[in-house]
Amino acid sequence: MRPTIVAGNWKMHGSFAENLDRLTALVAAAPALAHVQMIVFPTFPYLVSARSALAGCGIEVGAQTVSEYAQGAYTGEVSAQMLRDVQCSHVIVGHSERRSLFAESNAQVAAKFMAAQQAGLVPVLCVGESLTERENGATEAVVFAQLDAVIEAVGIGAFARCIIAYEPVWAIGTGLTATPEQAQAVHSAIRQRLAKHSESIAQRVAILYGGSVKPDNASALFAQADIDGGLVGGASLQAQDFIQICSAVEK
Ligand code: PEP
Repeated sequence: MRPTIVAGNWKMHGSFAENLDRLTALVAAAPALAHVQMIVFPTFPYLVSARSALAGCGIEVGAQTVSEYAQGAYTGEVSAQMLRDVQCSHVIVGHSERRSLFAESNAQVAAKFMAAQQAGLVPVLCVGESLTERENGATEAVVFAQLDAVIEAVGIGAFARCIIAYEPVWAIGTGLTATPEQAQAVHSAIRQRLAKHSESIAQRVAILYGGSVKPDNASALFAQADIDGGLVGGASLQAQDFIQICSAVEK
C-alpha cells in the first residue's frame, strides 16, 4: 500500500507573516487529514519557523532545492546536511524551474538526489516534458531520460526512499492541467520503467502529479490507479485551497 502525499511547493512567494498564517490554518486542519501525508516546501529562510509552527502535527517540512556538494566555498548554496540540521525531511530535486531557469542538467539533478539521500533526506524527484516535446510525441523519451539519469547514478535501490513527481512543464502555473487519463498514462509508464529494474520498488514508490492541481480537479486526478497524490504550486498558497485538495484524497 503506497502512502498518499500532498505537497505544497511555495516557491519564492509570501512573507514570514503570511507563511505563519498559512501554517496555522494547516495545523488546525491536520487532525481531519491524518490519512494524507502533507509536506510543505517554504523558501530557505522560513524553514526553521515552519518546522516549529508544525511541531507535533504530522506535517513535514522540506526544502525546494539543495546543493549537490557536501560543504565548501559555494556561496549561496545550502547543503543536504544543513537541511537535516534544521529538521527538514524532504527536498525537491529537478523541479522544471530549476532545470530551465538555472540550467540544472540531468546529471546535476542525479547528484543532488544522491546528496539528499546520503544526508537522510527524502528527495522528491520532478520529471516532465515541455509542450513541444509532448506535441512531438517525445513525452516518454524525455521523462525516461530524466529518470534513467538518476537510476544510473544511484541505483534502483535508492528509489525505495524517494518520491517521484510527474509535472508536465506545460501544466505548471499555466492553469492547464493534464487530464486524469493523460497523467495516469505517464504515471503508469514511469512505474513500468522502474519495474524493469525492480517490481517491488516500482510498486512501492509514490508518484505525485503536479501541474495546476486545484480543488476542482484534484479528486479525478487522485482517483487514478498510479497517482499517489499531488505536488501543488499556486493552489498551495491559499490554505483553504490546499486543505480542500488534501480532502480530495479518499480515506
Ligand atoms: C509546481 O510548481 O510544482 C506546480 C505544480 O505548480 P502549479 O500547481 O502552480 O502548477
